[in-house]
Amino acid sequence: MNIPSPIQKLDSPLFKEKEVEVWIKRDDLIHTEISGNKWRKLKYNLEKCKAGNYKSLLTFGGAYSNHILATAKIGFDHNIKTIGIIRGEEHLPLNPTLQQSIEFGMELHYTSRTDYRKKAEQQYLFQLKKQFNNPYIIPEGGGNIEGVLGCKDIVEEINFDFDYILTDCGTGATLAGLNLALKPHQKAIGIPVLKGGEFINKEVSHFYKLLNTDYSTLNKIDLALDYHFGGYAKHKQELIDFMRSFYKQTTIKTDPIYTGKLFFGFMDLVKKDYFPRGSKVVVVHTGGLQGIEGFEKRYKFKLYQ
Ligand SMILES: *Cc1c(COP(=O)(O)O)cnc(C)c1O
Repeated sequence: MNIPSPIQKLDSPLFKEKEVEVWIKRDDLIHTEISGNKWRKLKYNLEKCKAGNYKSLLTFGGAYSNHILATAKIGFDHNIKTIGIIRGEEHLPLNPTLQQSIEFGMELHYTSRTDYRKKAEQQYLFQLKKQFNNPYIIPEGGGNIEGVLGCKDIVEEINFDFDYILTDCGTGATLAGLNLALKPHQKAIGIPVLKGGEFINKEVSHFYKLLNTDYSTLNKIDLALDYHFGGYAKHKQELIDFMRSFYKQTTIKTDPIYTGKLFFGFMDLVKKDYFPRGSKVVVVHTGGLQGIEGFEKRYKFKLYQ
């Protein structure tokens, strides 16, 4: 586990022209199977699971989920049984994410999309507790209080002053955690990878309510809503082209579901003068690279040569 994750200065003619300084917080380098922000979100959940002497971990995810594989690997390493509730039907042969999860000992249970939607309902969770002999249950994507607090640690590892910090958003847990650690002059920017990303504001407020944090006194969060490329797991050629050229220029790989959209959005914001001259900006590379192989198999082309 590569903690604290490295932080790297990124140079480019564009940043020079716009007079912004840019660093990348390389959470993608934390681990190959345990995707960066999924490690952050699992860390305190794992502690709680151990402290409570639970015999197993149960969680939810789609067939390509970074969180499912991360949970499987953490369970494997800590000798805790893992159960994955997977959205939809089983498709054989298994994609690389689910195949590896099984190799790490995870027990997979497929559920209909209708049942999957109940994943946060008390009654359904109660039923799962009974069915699987009282597992420690983590919500989809690791989106709970422990997950948010784990993401707060990302900022605490950065030992210089900056003005902006950016992350991609699925549930908003990572963004909520980053924002919790900021000083008054600092700002967190979220790039939702889903359509209709305004809902992230509600999710963040919800987390802060659970934490008894007064949301209104915290730094305001900004959401850049125009970089979802059609919605979750949707992509366009323009995104693929960007990811390839970004890789060529920086040797940093991004994934098509999350971080490709994040860096595309970030570069576009720089071009559009979102950041005042002299700004110091940190972009969190949240990981997700395990998903590349599954994406390539599914769409039958290679992202990177
Ligand atoms: C899950 C995931 C996200 C989304 O994080 P949230 O905390 O759910 O907003 C972003 N990037 C990567 C690589 C992820 O795996």
